[in-house]
Amino acid sequence: MTAPHTRVALMGATGSIGSQTLEVLRREPDSFDLVAVSGGRRIHELSEVVNEFAVQHVGVVDEEDRTRLAALVDANVQIVVGEQGLRELSTGPEVVVNAVMGFAGLPVTLATLEAGARLALANKESLIAAAPVVASARRTPEAKILPVDSEHCAIYQCLVGSSELGHPDVTRLLLTASGGPFRGWSRDRLGSVTKSDALAHPTWTMGPKITIDSSTLMNKGLEVLEASALFGIEVDRIDVVVHPQSIVHSMVEYVDGSVLAQLSRPDMRLPIAYCLGAPERLAHHWGQLDFGTALTLEFEPPDRDAFPALDLAYVAARRGGAAPAWLSAANEVCVEAFLDDRIAWRDIVPLVTRTMDEYVDDPLDSLDAVVANDAQARRITHGNLPS
Ligand code: NDP
Ligand code: MG
Repeated sequence: MTAPHTRVALMGATGSIGSQTLEVLRREPDSFDLVAVSGGRRIHELSEVVNEFAVQHVGVVDEEDRTRLAALVDANVQIVVGEQGLRELSTGPEVVVNAVMGFAGLPVTLATLEAGARLALANKESLIAAAPVVASARRTPEAKILPVDSEHCAIYQCLVGSSELGHPDVTRLLLTASGGPFRGWSRDRLGSVTKSDALAHPTWTMGPKITIDSSTLMNKGLEVLEASALFGIEVDRIDVVVHPQSIVHSMVEYVDGSVLAQLSRPDMRLPIAYCLGAPERLAHHWGQLDFGTALTLEFEPPDRDAFPALDLAYVAARRGGAAPAWLSAANEVCVEAFLDDRIAWRDIVPLVTRTMDEYVDDPLDSLDAVVANDAQARRITHGNLPS
């Protein structure tokens, strides 16, 4: 008798993480069945995924997209719409990959955990914006988060064997950062950054929002918040180390001074495959590190003056409550405005800071509070954008 296939849902199937997840699934036809997918604006690409993998359940953003998709796929395919549709698709499969961009991924995170399934989480924004609500959904029996983000997946692997809650035997988490395209740039030089400069990441090819977040180091700030929520470790025990080669994906320092690291070529298919297969490793090989020739690994502290987004995240973490939600929401609005050519790169972080200056403490104890805080932070940030 052959082992039953694991049923997988892939939310955000048309994006960068989505398409790399599909590449992993193509290599593992005997282990996984792709039973549900969702997309955003790229309906044609979504239809190609549905047709290739014979997916039966699909989520789209609105009724117009449903009509467009229906014309491109088999009549038996069930198409669901909006946030409720994402929730339905995330309830049932054994593994749900959340590769949606931004706060829009929250229904996927919550519905998967509430259904007691495995969440392979790329969508860091949902965890950051709704940490206390996600924490309670995570207590559902059998619910589990496996982090896709390469740094967090590395830490997860380095923590295997460490005691579960709070990790008292761990002194520090060390998140590595490539430093982005502007590593070593002065504040002055950063004043004239253009869109194409900011979209050219030195080591990773990713969706536009996270590429811009990497250029401001906001991505690393968000990752500090993500790590704190995932591993239950306060941010003062989380440090950022710039490592331009992107080979050491992150490290854990233990009480005896030992440091464990996870290394690989920079390729998101590795953490994705780890999250799908854990605790086993899927056998497909994604390429070796070459230790046969000279390999130099460099580490340096981040430039916190030139990249103030990093400290903004630490401040939001220490403030707690809805402050991380505000940071993430304000940043989403500013990055979108930058990508739409409404503001300059140098305006992104100051505008986020302006929104944070208006934050009034809120304990963030319900989903309604999460949604209200997200909306309020967006409203304030939009109000500060040039008309
Ligand atoms: P992309 O922009 O490439 O893809 C995002 C996906 O989400 C697409 O399928 C998009 O649909 C869909 N989407 C966008 N907006 C909505 C919406 N409002 N409702 C429903 N679906 C929507 O992003 P990435 O793949 O780069 O990133 C996805 C997540 O993974 C982010 O949270 C990011 O921080 C995280 N991440 C990404 C990494 C990477 O290497 N790319 C690394 C680590 C984390 P469509 O394209 O059809 O519009
Ligand atoms: Mg990362």
